This record gives sequence, C-alpha cells and structure tokens, in this order.
Amino acid sequence: MTDLTRLSAADLADRLASREISSVEATRAHLDRIAAVDGDIRAFLHVSDHALEVAADIDRRRGAGDRLGPVAGVPLAIKDVLVTTDMPSTSGSKILEGYLSPVDATVVARSRAAGLVPLGKTNMDEFAMGSSTEHSAYGATHNPWDLDRIPGGSGGGSAAAVAAFEAPLALGSDTGGSIRQPAHVTGTVGLKPTYGGVSRYGAIALASSLDQVGPVTRTVLDAGLLHDVIGGHDPHDSTSLAEAWPSFAAAAREGARGDVLKGLKVGVIKELPDSGFQAGVSASFRGALAAMEAHGAELVEISAPHFEYGVAAYYLILPAEASSNLAKFDSVRFGLRVDVPGGTVEDVMAATRDAGFGDEVKRRIILGTYALSAGYYDAYYGSAQKVRTLIQRDFDTAFAQVDVIATPSAPTTAFRLGEKIDDPLQMYLNDVTTIPANLAGVPGISIPSGLAEEDGLPVGIQFLAPAREDARLYRVGAALEAVLVDSWGAPLLDRAPMLGGAL
Ligand code: GLN
Repeated sequence: MTDLTRLSAADLADRLASREISSVEATRAHLDRIAAVDGDIRAFLHVSDHALEVAADIDRRRGAGDRLGPVAGVPLAIKDVLVTTDMPSTSGSKILEGYLSPVDATVVARSRAAGLVPLGKTNMDEFAMGSSTEHSAYGATHNPWDLDRIPGGSGGGSAAAVAAFEAPLALGSDTGGSIRQPAHVTGTVGLKPTYGGVSRYGAIALASSLDQVGPVTRTVLDAGLLHDVIGGHDPHDSTSLAEAWPSFAAAAREGARGDVLKGLKVGVIKELPDSGFQAGVSASFRGALAAMEAHGAELVEISAPHFEYGVAAYYLILPAEASSNLAKFDSVRFGLRVDVPGGTVEDVMAATRDAGFGDEVKRRIILGTYALSAGYYDAYYGSAQKVRTLIQRDFDTAFAQVDVIATPSAPTTAFRLGEKIDDPLQMYLNDVTTIPANLAGVPGISIPSGLAEEDGLPVGIQFLAPAREDARLYRVGAALEAVLVDSWGAPLLDRAPMLGGAL
C-alpha cells in the first residue's frame, strides 16, 4: 500500500474524495510518522490527542453525503504562534507555557471549517524572533536533511514537519521571512501573502505592520489549496483587505499546465551583492533563471538601491513594534507569574518577564524601547520608516518594468546548529532577501531551486509580485516547479538523504 505520508495534500484530497482512503487512515499514517521521527526532528511542541476523532467525524460526514470542501480530511500542522482552543499556544516562549486560548485564530477556525485535521502545534523561535528555531524556549528543531543543521526560523517546526513527511500542510507566519527562509533551507514551498490578505486575528503579534500568516507545503499547488482555505476578509482584523481573491489553487494548476513563463518579465536586482551569497546558492539561482529563460522568460536587470538598507530598517521597526506588543505579558493577563514575597506589582512584573522571556526577546524589547524613546524616536524609528518608504518606491519602480522579481530566498544553505546563535548580527543578515517584501507589504514565495553543490543542501528561489498579485506567484511558482522537477526526474525531497537513512 502507498505510504500516505509521501502524498501531496492534493493527492490525499483526491483519494479522500473518491473514498479510496479515509481521513482516519491519512491521519493515523501521519501520527505514526510523527511518533517514528519526531524524536529526532523535534518539529512539534504538542501533538493533538483528538486528531483521530476529528478525522473520524470528517469520514462520517463524507459517508452521510455532506458537502465537504476540497481538502477535507487532510492533516495540518499549526505553528505555535497561532492560538487554538484545544491545544496550548506558547509562541515558543516560557511566559506562555501551557496557555490555552479562549478563541481559535481565524486561520485555525477556517482550517477546521474546511475539514482540515489539526495534528499539533509546531516549534518556533520565541515570539517568532529568529532564523533557526534555536531561540525556542523548548529547544531547537532539526533539519531533516541533516540533523546537525537548522531548519530555518522562526517557523522551522512547520517547515521541518512538512519536509520530514510528518504533515502534508502546515501554517506559518512571516514577519521578515519566517515562512520563506525555512522553506529555502528544507526544500519546501512557503508563501507570504500580500499584507492584509490573510487574517492576523489570533496570530500572537510580533510586529503588526509586518506579520502575515501563510502556507508551508511541499508543492506550489498544495500552498494554493491551503491559501484558499485561510485567506480573505476577516472583520476581526482591521488591516484585512476587503476584496475577493481568485482561487490560488486554480492559479497553481494553470501555471503547471500553461505557457506562463513565455514572455514573463523577471526582474533581477543588480545591487544584490553576489559576494554575500554562498557559491552554491548563487549557482542554483542562476540555474533556475536559465531554466526560465529557456522556457521563454525574459530576464530584466532592475535597480532596487534601497534594498540593502532593509535589514537595518527592519531591525528598528520590528523591535519597536514588538516591544509594544509584548508589553501585554505583564504577569497579570496571560501566562506565567513569578511571585515576589513582599514585592510590589512592578517587582512581580519584572521577575516574571525576566524569567519568562529569553535573551533574544529581551534584546529586541530593549532595542525597541530605546528606538521609540523621546529624543531618539526621530533618529531611529522615524528614519527607519523613511527607509521603508524608499523600499516601497523601489518596488513600485521595479514593478512598472517587470512582472515578478526573483532573488535567492536566503544567502546560505542551512547553517549548523550553534553556528550563529551567539552572533545576532549574522543571524539577522540571513534575512536580507526576505525582509523587503514585509516592509513593502508585497507577496513572496520560495520554491526549491536545487541543491548547493558544495554541501548537497536545498536552495530556494524567491519570487516577489506587486501587492494583491499573489495569484501571479502561484502561476509562476508552479510553472518553474514543473520545469525543475521534470529536469530532476523527481521532487527534491525524494532525493533527501533522510529517505535512504534512518528517517
Ligand atoms: N528572522 C526574522 C526575525 O528574526 C524573521 C522573523 C519572522 O518572520 N517572524 O525577525
């Protein structure tokens, strides 16, 4: 019998719809896989103990002839930044250990309504601050391609779960790259929607003007299927866009079939310094561009002179917003409280935040508070906001000339656990290609472009499109994916060493 964990969500959905398999079978296969490999991968912080019941209910409803959505019965992993009523939500922090939310995040509620079966909550850097999951208060997740390496961050748990065939679909969140960079280092697909395209209600806020929830999958079509479930207007989120969106799954199907690459204008940023990129990352990027050109795409050199200031601006704007968002963890309203006998309320608050927050969170709260303080606001936060506007203008100018912009999704392949943990600046620089999309609010996708020659690890190519043009990314992503998988003879993950080894 087919190993159900190796199927894409689209394949599972087809077999579920034709009743060739049941949701209980699909769910059990993934729970068994988690039991077998997650001791090594550590993608999950919590595994649901009622996934099989949920699956049985879907099967019952299908049996009764209920009209179910296209992905009903398919298992789903959920990043722990998204609150859930039936499983704890910690955002990777000790300060929220065991926290049970009274509501589901909108994306979780929509997933349940679509009949997706939550398998559990995935590991992440504390409050989504990081690029490696090493800042999780619950220990790091390991990259299935090489257990000594990082799975990316902050959503390394979701990406590793999908890469290790523990789940066909996962939800992530992306404030500066936390969906796309983990996709890059694990050989998976991740998409950050247009700002406002997916509800942030119930996503524990990191930086509210940058945060977006999005899909983490193994194929572009699967990402579109999940995006169709979670996207669209939500009255609970005041920044949610009101418009109707096209079907992203339909866009992906169109891309895989059609002649999307013919005549497509692909912008390549001339200022992106080649020297900052690992040789194998640059080579894989150029290879993917050549494949696009061979299928009729036109490469256009564009200028985005302010991109190089993106990291600097982001690491002022993000800490500023985060310091404000994290003020609510005050020992009274949520989670942990450390008692200080005879102490004042401030003493309790200080002791709680000292014990509950990790070093990276404290570092960013201090930085953000400083950047916002009277006398420094204009010099730091105000300047960073001006740079943000310049980056948005760079995008406007570029998209007047090209349909999409292409970059490598990150400068290096998966680095070793421990390699950058004591060097925050090096960790931050890993976000150089992903951050501009968050600052400008435009959508971005990362799909596998190949393996780096020097270390055999996966590399991703990122495409960016104008705001609201997420469907374009699905068309282009699926088109290139089809071309590349065809040239490799098999999907990248089927060539992962874990498949031949103990995993
Ligand atoms: N690595 C980035 C950071 O540390 C991205 C975080 C994110 O997207 N949540 O801020």
